[in-house]
Amino acid sequence: MPLRKNVFLFVLIIISNISIAQQVWDESLLITPEKSNFVKTSSYADVVSFLTAIQSKSDLVHVFSMGKSLEGKDIPVAVLSKDKIKTAAEAHASGKQVVYIQGNIHAGEVEGKEVIMMLMRDILLGERINLLDNQIILFAPIYNTDSNDKMEKGRRPSQEDSPLEVGIRENSQGLDLNRDGMKMEALETKAIFSSVLLPWDPQVFVDLHTTNGTWHAYSLTWAPSYLSSGHPATYDFVNNTMLPAITQTVKEKHNLDFGPFGDYTLREGWPPKNFYTYNHHPRYLVNQFGLRNRMAILSEAFAHERFYDRIFSTYAFVSEILSYTNSHAHEIVKINKQAEAETIASMTQAGKIKKGVRFKMVPLKKLDGFISYDFIQKMKPDGKSEYVRTGKISTFKDVTYYAKFEPGVESTVPSAYLIPAAFSNLVENLTQHGVKVDKLTKSQSLKGEIFQIEKFTQASRAFEGHVMADVEGKFTPASRSFKKGDYRVEMNQSLANLIFYLLEPQSDDGLLTWNFLDEFILKNKKDNQPLEYPVFKYIK
Ligand SMILES: [Zn+2]
Repeated sequence: MPLRKNVFLFVLIIISNISIAQQVWDESLLITPEKSNFVKTSSYADVVSFLTAIQSKSDLVHVFSMGKSLEGKDIPVAVLSKDKIKTAAEAHASGKQVVYIQGNIHAGEVEGKEVIMMLMRDILLGERINLLDNQIILFAPIYNTDSNDKMEKGRRPSQEDSPLEVGIRENSQGLDLNRDGMKMEALETKAIFSSVLLPWDPQVFVDLHTTNGTWHAYSLTWAPSYLSSGHPATYDFVNNTMLPAITQTVKEKHNLDFGPFGDYTLREGWPPKNFYTYNHHPRYLVNQFGLRNRMAILSEAFAHERFYDRIFSTYAFVSEILSYTNSHAHEIVKINKQAEAETIASMTQAGKIKKGVRFKMVPLKKLDGFISYDFIQKMKPDGKSEYVRTGKISTFKDVTYYAKFEPGVESTVPSAYLIPAAFSNLVENLTQHGVKVDKLTKSQSLKGEIFQIEKFTQASRAFEGHVMADVEGKFTPASRSFKKGDYRVEMNQSLANLIFYLLEPQSDDGLLTWNFLDEFILKNKKDNQPLEYPVFKYIK
């Protein structure tokens, strides 16, 4: 009896030891920063071999390529699900929401790439499997594949040489992948739309970056998809409910300070009075998501912390986002669906409603308890003073946060846009965005509005290889006839707000902005003579 009792006790000890035992990871599942004392970041080959290794250890992950970069590298997407889902069709049939998270859009901002692999490890083989209860997770760890490996020291001086070497921001075509959302010139942009965003239709998108700006003292800053001409519901939920809740959880669990994204400028003096976010343009993928009636989050790790700190902040953020989306899946899908339904329904009011096409940034609220590294003034030999950053973190009251966008110019929302057959370049872009475009099978005569271009200007400096275009002019009521083979874009579709942003002539981020109509305008516009914008607005 005593012996038996001892054996029983022994077994109990073994069992309890197993239950509290730490997972022992295979070398193939360690990420490069862990193997290099955080001196190095993962190469493309490192990411690919991690994905191969984890697939051999879990059947709850499937990896596919969203497309190829200019150098011919596959851009991997890992699908994590409890149902071993491999295709978008299977995902839709499962009824579970899809959440899409990507790292490395700017290949010098590497934390997201590492964090995605850590999370895959913890979800598939560790203790976070519950994150797959109500959702399917799509992870693209290395969106900008080519540029990741063009590593060099000193690329991002604000990152304290931690890690020592990182890749470059633009892709191999020299394009910033986070300015390409509207014009869609990058191979990566075409790939993400055709292979991820359109077929899988993620309800939530998270884009992982690292700032290189202001010395505020937040370990991570975030932004929602800024509200421009989109439906407000997705913005309201992400900005006012989801992100504040996650920020609070991260503070309670990890004592990390997260806050809204922005910069202050020392030109306005010290202490800080104003904190400005970036802007509303849907060329930024996160901002475009709002126009698609979906939710999105921009994550910006704090460049001035060490690499391992940035990894931890980003890990905590993504982990809590996934926890939140998992437990609020039903609510998220409902809000997105309702935004979509109301967008479509509002088109019965076409001709009577106006929406913004150009926006200006205005104050959203006052930030109390704003934290930042402190600055003092130093006298220079020439008698002038300059600001010098101290190592002290101070809290500031009454800082005005500029993160709201008010329409500067508005335009009438039509029932449909009519595009002459000659402008198939516009239709090609719309189709890549997922917009439904019909081809006329017989001629139509329609009443609506034309826009007379009175002034056409191009920017004095190139941006992303474009001298951005701009028009001034006015709308007037008119009737126009269209032939068989011309295009008609109905507005009673879920992407109506995006279509409006792309096709309005005065839009600050539309197809005219990105030179899609330059050839026509430069050829036909005579000095001082108005020129009719070729896209017609039909109003029922
Ligand atoms: Zn970035």
